[in-house]
Parts: sequence; structure tokens; C-alpha cells
Amino acid sequence: MKVKSLTGVLLAAILALSGCVGNVGTISEKKESPAVDDVQEETVVTEPESEPEQSAEVAGDETAEAEPEPEEEEEDEDEPEEEQGPPFSDSLEINTADGKSVAAFYALDTVISMTIYGPESENALKAAADLIDRLDRVISPQREGSELRILNENGNAICSDELIEAVSLGQEYGKATDGAFNIAIYPVVDAWGFFSGEYRVPEAEEIEELLTLARPEDVKEAERPSKEWSNGRRNSKLKKGIVFETEGMKIDLGGIGKGYIADKIALMFNEDYADGVTGAVISLGGNIICLGKKPEGKSFKVGLQDPGKAVGEYLAVITAATSSEGNLTPYSIVTSGNYERFFEVDGVKYTHIIDPETGYPVENGLASVTVTSDDSALADALTTALFVMGYDKAVEFWRSGTYDFEMALIDENGKLYLTEGLKDQVKSYVQTEIITR
Ligand code: AMP
Ligand code: MG
Repeated sequence: MKVKSLTGVLLAAILALSGCVGNVGTISEKKESPAVDDVQEETVVTEPESEPEQSAEVAGDETAEAEPEPEEEEEDEDEPEEEQGPPFSDSLEINTADGKSVAAFYALDTVISMTIYGPESENALKAAADLIDRLDRVISPQREGSELRILNENGNAICSDELIEAVSLGQEYGKATDGAFNIAIYPVVDAWGFFSGEYRVPEAEEIEELLTLARPEDVKEAERPSKEWSNGRRNSKLKKGIVFETEGMKIDLGGIGKGYIADKIALMFNEDYADGVTGAVISLGGNIICLGKKPEGKSFKVGLQDPGKAVGEYLAVITAATSSEGNLTPYSIVTSGNYERFFEVDGVKYTHIIDPETGYPVENGLASVTVTSDDSALADALTTALFVMGYDKAVEFWRSGTYDFEMALIDENGKLYLTEGLKDQVKSYVQTEIITR
């Protein structure tokens, strides 16, 4: 069995080219790398083979400080404990110079890289890293003690507002995409080995049975009893939570979580660093969010990974449509590719994106789907959903206008298709076709 795991690979190399973006043509252009002098920064990262060493502390919750440790601690096993230890950002190596801070680290089961500009760049970078770490403890399906893991293990749990919000967005995008996006696909993804890394091709009957658990509509928000210590007494009260109405079901936020977190970072930068940060480009694996502008009002440019080539080789460059006026306008460029995480058995390639109709990995001639939007969670969910839909349905969905986004599809022959809103923003090095309304 051949296994390839590139989740966390930066699907699109982050570039900062000083030249203008040329026209996108419908003709084939020879791919050329930008002149090295033009590249002021470029991030190409690969996923570490093993899990990073990280503490197995459980997620935090707002239990009162200095309360006696309840002896019956184990009774509250569905409730996260208070976070301890130094902030995550203390462990980072941050390179700060000339009003710019840069760091790369492992979190969210992928490689994160950040470049932040402005007088407050270092503090903003630390705050973003700590936010990522905090939310990883909420939405990671595998991390010991994460809220999502506790929920999946118990079928019900007290949950933070963030988990409830991410789940509810996932449900919304599931409905809007007619089930192509399905947060309850976890048991099927697991059966193929994409969580454990023990890849296998399940029997058809097994897939059929597991598909009966993939019911996002059976994930319900519900109040859960919580016992808390207060004034030396243990009180019981109700807290927000989630309950699964189908036994054995589990949630997978892998298709939306990074986008959700990117949105939270954008929000925090706008609330807390609007005066101290002038621009930022943050890559959470294949999810890239650009905020504001580079120095001198230059735009961020993001390379679109060539699915058939080595990591960092791109076939087009997208100029991020952020504004330098007013606040730190966000612009997300999110890619899902069938080359990210897959394995091969007898020459058949099985990718990590599952068609919820069949329970089988998607195989429809698309090699990657990129979505651009000011909403990163939407872009993230849509890349996965449009990948499942395939070219024709994806185009139909874009034309329907259900959501405001643009997309770049790359087929397995390396041809690029761009929706018309992107055509002036993309410099392409390969045969390119424009999709019109
Ligand atoms: P992405 O790379 O954003 O396309 O997300 C892929 C991840 O989402 C996979 O690794 C699975 O954990 C999960 N996933 C796979 N298929 C689906 C689907 N049809 N709907 C929602 N999530 C999915
Ligand atoms: Mg996605």
C-alpha cells in the first residue's frame, strides 16, 4: 500500500511578488517561476510525519479559581477542565524585525505559518497562536481531552459557544450543499483509516452501515447538567451543550475547522489590533487568510499549488482582494486537493474527501478546488463540498448565487477553470478557462 499524507502541506505557496498580475487567458501559457528577486517571502512547508509533542491537558472552562478540588472529579468527565501552564505562544520562535513578525509551528494537525506587519505584529502573532491553541482544544477530533473528542466519545457534552457555532455552521453548509458537506461523516472517514493512519478499504456492507450514522440533522443543541463548586458547595446548573440523537454517531469538523478558526483570528485582529497591525497573511495548512495589506499598500499574492507537482510549485498566482482602507479586511483562499492526504491500493487512489452519498472517496476528475471569500469557514466548507459535487454541480452551485464566493477548479489534466470574478486577480501559467454566470 502506498500512502501519502500531505495535509498540512501549504497547498498554496505564499508569495509576495512585487510585479503586477497579468491577464488570465484562455490559452496555454508556459509556466515560469517568478524571478527570485521578486519573491520577498515564500513559505513552503510539509507536514511532520508524527504528531507534535503537546500536553494532554484538557480544554479549559470557566470554573472558579481557588475552589476546592472536588473529590468526585471523575463524575464530571464530560466537562472540560481548566487549562494550565504557560501560554502556547511562549514556546514559539518568533522572528521580529522591521515591523514584521514571522513564525511557523505545528498545530491543528497541520503546519501553521504567519507573517504579520505593523508595530504590534509580535503581540498580534502571539495572540493568534494562543487563539489557535485554545480552539484546537475545542474542535480537534483526536486531541486528548478536546471538547469534540469528549462529545464524540459520550454522544453528549457541555460545549463551548465556539463548538456549538462551528457545528451549527457545518449543519448550515450541509443543508445548503444538499448534503455534499456532512459534518457527521466521521465514522466513514474513520473506517477508511484517515484518522488513525491505518488505511484500509472497508467492505461495502460496512460502509453502508456506517453511512446510517452520518446524520447531521441528529446533532442537537441541548442544555446539559453541570456540577460546579461555589462557596464550598457543589451546585448543579444547566449549561449549553450538544446531544447526538443517533447512537454511535460522531462529528468531523476537519472540513471546516481551520476556516472557522481563521475567521476568529480575523475578528480578533480587527477588534484588538486594528491600530497595531497593518497586514497579515496566515496559513493554516491549505487555508490561507490575508488581512489588510503589505507595507506600501502592496497586495498579498498566493500561489495556487500545481496538483501534479512538488509542494510549493504553483500553476497560478492569486492576488488577495483585501483593502488598505479602514479595517483589516479579510480575504481567504482555501484549497482542498485530492493530493493532500490519500493512499493507494492496487493502483487505485483513495483520497480523504468522502462522498456522503456513497461513503467512498471522491473520484470525479477534479484534482483541487480553491474557494476565495471574505468568509473563511464558508470557503473551507465549500472547498470540500464542491470537491464532492464535481465540476458540473460545482459550477451550477456557484451560478445559483447561494453564497458569494469565487472558485478555481483544477482538473486531473492540470487545466484551470476560474469563475469570472477571479479573472483579473489571477495570473495563470497553464491552460485556463473562465466560467461565466
Ligand atoms: P478539506 O481538506 O477542507 O477538504 O477537509 C477534508 C476533511 O474533511 C477530511 O479529512 C475529513 O476529515 C472531512 N471530510 C471528508 N469528507 C467530508 C465531507 N463530505 N463533508 C465534510 N467533511 C468531510
Ligand atoms: Mg474544507
